[in-house]
Amino acid sequence: MDIKKIEDWGLGLTTPLWIAGPCSAESKEQIESISQGLVGSGVQMFRAGIWKPRTRPNAFEGVGEEGLKWLEIPKKTLNIPVCVEVANAKHTEAALKAGVDVLWLGARTTVNPFSVQEVCDAVKGTDIPVMVKNPINPDQQLWIGAIERLLKVGITKIAGIHRGCSDNVPSRFRNNPEWSMPILLKKEFPTLSVVSDPSHICGNREMIEEIGQTALNFGLDGLMVETHHDPDNAWSDAKQQITPERLKEIINNFQIRHSIDESPELKTEMDQHRQIIDVLDKQLIEILSQRFKAIREVGQYKKEHNLSVFQRDRWDEVINTRIAMAIERGVSEDFMRKLLMDIHDESIKLQEASMHTENK
Ligand code: PEP
Ligand code: MN
Repeated sequence: MDIKKIEDWGLGLTTPLWIAGPCSAESKEQIESISQGLVGSGVQMFRAGIWKPRTRPNAFEGVGEEGLKWLEIPKKTLNIPVCVEVANAKHTEAALKAGVDVLWLGARTTVNPFSVQEVCDAVKGTDIPVMVKNPINPDQQLWIGAIERLLKVGITKIAGIHRGCSDNVPSRFRNNPEWSMPILLKKEFPTLSVVSDPSHICGNREMIEEIGQTALNFGLDGLMVETHHDPDNAWSDAKQQITPERLKEIINNFQIRHSIDESPELKTEMDQHRQIIDVLDKQLIEILSQRFKAIREVGQYKKEHNLSVFQRDRWDEVINTRIAMAIERGVSEDFMRKLLMDIHDESIKLQEASMHTENK
């Protein structure tokens, strides 16, 4: 069974698809203000969280079913479909009954096959479109698995939402983008539309435009952006919500990229750029191979002199000097820190292994 692209959902959607609306529905007045603000924005779908999965207790957990009826407001004001997050059968049944047009599975739901299956069982026999956020951890199989579960119950109007993954490495993102995940998902399901959610990736207002543009540059099919008429006083995710006015501005600023397949000349030029990248990748691999060879030699030396594998001062110096060099050369600190961590993990493994080999 083929997945239907958003253009084929029968809802009049086109790409790039702009989805906007508050993190949480708070009141009828709030939904009215935001809907009014979005008039003329080009937004094609309204979002609002009715049941909110909060990491810690005592936070605002959503207005619940009562909020569903407020969603008639954006439908009327903007003449667009509305979508809500559902995490269990009860949410799903209530949303279907209220005439919600599109459902989505949140990151904390995709991560749990029991919950995904419960929602799948509740939508079985309907034609409702379901969007699936990536799981909170960078596990591509969980994302794929949730989509497969929907297909198994006959849902074909499916889209992915890329919202990044949590991570313990200090970073400028609330959720690390893991750009390879949405790209690989589109490879896995060639007709699947995937939109990006820069709000949950960034966790702040300032970076939404930059990350939204990056998503469009990667060929993603649109954006879901948390939008509130009074972001500072939002009941959830206040720091990352933007006003409808700001959303209009960034939608105007976005550069929409076209697929390379549309132009043979561009394709030839691209191939030339790609050849350069191929050569650089070869060099990168050669350098890594040489670095690991040197690491094995250090491992042997440490073994002969009875030294421990991990030496903290040396590691701090490596990190600090390399990051400083990287910044100077225009390589991001986040990326360099991660790369060094991965190289370091591999180096420790190699040194460990050479500690256990016999002296020759
Ligand atoms: C949301 O969209 O408000 C939400 C809870 O997102 P996520 O599932 O990505 O954390
Ligand atoms: Mn949110």
